[in-house]
Amino acid sequence: MSVAAKDAVAFIAEIQLVAMSRRRFVHHITRPHLTRGLFRVQYIFDLELISHKILYPLNKFLRELIGGSKAMNETVFPDGIARNIVALLARQGGMTRSDIASSLQLSKGRVSVITGHLMSQGIIEEYAYVPSSRRPSSLLRLHPKYASFIGISLHNREASAVVIDPNGTVLAKTFFERGDDYETSIRRISEAVTTLKNECPSGTNFAAVGMALPAYVSMDKQVCITSSVLGWDNRDVSTAISKEVGLPVFVENDTNALAVYESMFGGMRHIPAFVVIAVGDGIGVAYTIDGSVHHGEHGGAGELAHLPVARSLSEEAPRPCRCGNKGCLETVSSSQAIRARAKEVSLPPNIHLISTKAREGDPEALRILHTAANSLGYAAASLIQILDPRHIIIAIEDDLLHGVFTAALRQFVEQNLMPSFNRPERLKFTCYDSLVWAIGAAGLASRKHLFRSY
Ligand SMILES: [Zn+2]
Repeated sequence: MSVAAKDAVAFIAEIQLVAMSRRRFVHHITRPHLTRGLFRVQYIFDLELISHKILYPLNKFLRELIGGSKAMNETVFPDGIARNIVALLARQGGMTRSDIASSLQLSKGRVSVITGHLMSQGIIEEYAYVPSSRRPSSLLRLHPKYASFIGISLHNREASAVVIDPNGTVLAKTFFERGDDYETSIRRISEAVTTLKNECPSGTNFAAVGMALPAYVSMDKQVCITSSVLGWDNRDVSTAISKEVGLPVFVENDTNALAVYESMFGGMRHIPAFVVIAVGDGIGVAYTIDGSVHHGEHGGAGELAHLPVARSLSEEAPRPCRCGNKGCLETVSSSQAIRARAKEVSLPPNIHLISTKAREGDPEALRILHTAANSLGYAAASLIQILDPRHIIIAIEDDLLHGVFTAALRQFVEQNLMPSFNRPERLKFTCYDSLVWAIGAAGLASRKHLFRSY
């Protein structure tokens, strides 16, 4: 152990003694250790219970030891109630101290003390006032300069990458070809991160990177277990990119990243239970329950694409799916399936033209879109009855948004739900801008960094 590390051990031990003698509560202080050449000291405590007399010398000592406030931000972050407040502000946006107190069932005085600490550390700020009958209350939010997060989406062949502040404001963006093989993709991602960093003002505190992949991702958000779109199997994407860009990297399924976008920065911000179904050449599903994405036991929740729905709903013989089974939802309702069926009956394999033909009454175009819509409607109706979400957002291509497909899907859902479940406002159709996937990926990096969960 280096001299510096020995000094730190002695210092931490002293602080433990001080804390114990003052009968204050230090939950847990670990021994300092060396990680990737960076001297890290983890100490986790309930911020409201530790006195400035302990906190400030400790911060000062560590800052001198590890050199710089950036490292401090990575290693020193509040726990307990303070972290709950940060998580609440990240999820809900601007709130007054009274809002925070009632949401977390705390006294206003206690909230004022903790938010004061968070403000003094530059983690949150007051940014606006809400008029009231007595005196105006200030609105709090995460400080835009506290940290920045990079998000990268490989959802489309033209990959997108962004930098956002903790409140979701886009600070920089870039697009690049994702590449045909793993090594090329990693190199291009690394180059995109360099481009983004150069576009941001000097001194920007980059805290973490989030990646949205069309893939089944491990529960620890490190490994791409499999992706038929990318052709990657058991790739430790997190370690590979982290080595290149020098930041922590978290990997997520792309539809889950969309759900993170919706719950942090989109229209579902205050909605505890909602579902996103993303229909493209594949079909992805994400469930958000109590504000968090549901991952299942192994991280694979959301494989609705392989529900064997076509066996019972379609008159034609079930078709083989890329998963090895037959008659999966994806073989009927994905954009790729719609185009393939059009080609078989000499219609142009183009969603815009198929949609136009259906609107004009072409029987084959109508049959193809009705089959696709009914199968997806069956899946959506099942989800509604299983999960009772406030909304199901169905993300589809722009050309399918206003026409036969959405009308048929809506009708199928209404006809097949229990009457008490029938709420027309439940279904929402949208077409996402490609940047949204990358913003969702950056959002998950911020959740992981700010409150180690999502
Ligand atoms: Zn399948």
